Amino acid sequence: MKIDLHSHTTCSDGALTPVELVQRAQQMQVDVLAITDHDTISGIEVATEYVKNSNIKLDVIAGVELSTSWHGFDIHIVGLQVDVTNSKFLQRLEHQLLERDRRAVKICDKLEKCGHSGIYDLALEIADGAQISRNHIARALVQRSICTHPQQAFTKYLGKNKKAHVTPNWISMQEAVQWIHEAGGQAVLAHPGHYDMTTKWLRRLVAEFAASGGDAMEITHPNMAADKKKLLQGVMADNNLLASAGSDFHFPSRFTELGRRLDIPESIAPVWQNWPILQDRLQKESLQPESLQPESTQ
Ligand code: AMP
Ligand code: MN
Ligand code: MN
Ligand code: MN
Repeated sequence: MKIDLHSHTTCSDGALTPVELVQRAQQMQVDVLAITDHDTISGIEVATEYVKNSNIKLDVIAGVELSTSWHGFDIHIVGLQVDVTNSKFLQRLEHQLLERDRRAVKICDKLEKCGHSGIYDLALEIADGAQISRNHIARALVQRSICTHPQQAFTKYLGKNKKAHVTPNWISMQEAVQWIHEAGGQAVLAHPGHYDMTTKWLRRLVAEFAASGGDAMEITHPNMAADKKKLLQGVMADNNLLASAGSDFHFPSRFTELGRRLDIPESIAPVWQNWPILQDRLQKESLQPESLQPESTQ
């Protein structure tokens, strides 16, 4: 079974619309896909409705990726199986979206001081109604030929300690876990291998996440080195967390694809261990022994 529990759409900084994303998931033979846009759940309903009204055999999991601040690091917490109709949760997400806009204005003020004006308006245009992110500002800088590639926009202007970096005022990790739990979901520490921190800090991060009531952490990613996987699995076990895995898909490319190389070893308890939809699928699979399959007509 192919399970991918981390992906983005045009509702945040992904390149595919929610419908295009689920269509691609089908092409890639993904069985279960969580849509986890940055600080918004606005793509879930249209994707779910589309799947329901078509022949796509895919379970869409309602998710979100919350931005949090922890000791100067931007730490991302994925929420899985959140109730997208929970009005308190929706209200709370509004707070994050206001912070996104506040930060974007400040970043663009700094860019203006570097001699690059009009970036905020262009980034808003590129975002086209999505929640504004640094990716949109990066694309605006490329469109104006100020940078050659979005990656360069991060290394020159938008990354930590760079010319137009603004320290965000995101919620705490504890708040993120609480928000997700109060919306009925499970909290997953996203891509713990991507935070550019020492192993000592990583251990501290995971321990604090677990102490805050966090449920799971992502332990694998395509192209992750074996020793890194081993480290993450060890830290996960030390803190009694469940395992999760997702591609963090933003756009199709040679390096990024939905559902690719995300297997979790069978000996490790996954975050979906008690999900009814997974149990239904597994039961259906186990009810299809060879003797019950249609006979060959040759
Ligand atoms: P934001 O949530 O607005 O702070 O933007 C974070 C997003 O920017 C991440 O989810 C990535 O998609 C992207 N990003 C962060 N750092 C980099 C980087 N160094 N190069 C390219 N994209 C990045
Ligand atoms: Mn992103
Ligand atoms: Mn992330
Ligand atoms: Mn992500």
